Amino acid sequence: MRTTTDRTKGAGASPFGEPLPWVFVNSEFRREPESKISVHAHALTYGTGTFEGIRATWNPKERELYLLEAAAHFERLGRSARVLGLPLPLSPPELVRASVELLRRNEVRFDAYLRPLLVLAGEELAVRMHGIGTRVSISAWPIQGDYIDPAGVRCMISSWRRAPDVTTPSRAKATGGYLGPALAKTEAAAAGYDEAIMLTVSGNVAEATTSNVFARRGREWLTPPVTDDVLEGITRDQVKTLLAERTGRPVTERSLHRSELFVCDELLLCGTAALVVPVLEVDGRPVGDGMAGDMTRWLLGELWSIARRSNGRHEDWTTPVYGYGKDAR
Ligand code: PMP
Repeated sequence: MRTTTDRTKGAGASPFGEPLPWVFVNSEFRREPESKISVHAHALTYGTGTFEGIRATWNPKERELYLLEAAAHFERLGRSARVLGLPLPLSPPELVRASVELLRRNEVRFDAYLRPLLVLAGEELAVRMHGIGTRVSISAWPIQGDYIDPAGVRCMISSWRRAPDVTTPSRAKATGGYLGPALAKTEAAAAGYDEAIMLTVSGNVAEATTSNVFARRGREWLTPPVTDDVLEGITRDQVKTLLAERTGRPVTERSLHRSELFVCDELLLCGTAALVVPVLEVDGRPVGDGMAGDMTRWLLGELWSIARRSNGRHEDWTTPVYGYGKDAR
């Protein structure tokens, strides 16, 4: 039987390898087969949980692995848990420490992706957030390919809108909040596009399925404000900082019309997995001259160098895994 997924471009292709054998679960390290969750887990039916995605980048010259913005990711996990009213049993510094230990146990000497996850794991059949047992885990995958093609992507404006904060809290990276982005991504793939850009219910540009959006019009860089139902992206903060340093003027945070995407000079997506990706086309219209923008390419190079700590810039954004403790941050 042919399913929708069969006709989507790239279905089944994953930039990640097999999950690594050691998993951190509720303060202990377990082998992956012993870390499984029940089919009855609350989160499986109701999408009740929150998660993070953290990049670790291998620097072959220094033989060191660097976590990128680990503390910021665990602080956001803490804020997400607060919004959902869930207890997070470990502090951000404890979770950074656990991540370091996890990567060491798995002997990671290559690029990897960490998935911290806080879910309602209790087996109650009840639609509510309170009074159900939680479970916190961190698992890891090797990154073996590109999450999104760094040469650039062709986007469509999705018919699925980004869920407004009044229905699903935008700044909580909630598991259940990914139903809309998943539908949007499949819609885009089925239509022959690489990625979807979602609008808010009122029609402003929000973000792509797992990344934030920046546009350049002339000398001005723009990004939707956090009140336009976007995730408060950590790469978004980095891109804002790098662009302000480079151009000498702050990025403007304001609502963007969909038609501004058709007339802007440069457009990019940014997120932990992809870092920065040029958008070459939106709804069949070329962005600028249809080539990756100069500043976008510079940003991608800059973020890669920062991620593997090879250019001496923003070293406080990275944490060394094997040297942790000697140079703890
Ligand atoms: N928006 C959404 C919906 C996302 O899932 C992500 C990925 N976490 C982002 C934006 C980018 O956020 P970050 O830079 O923190 O990875």
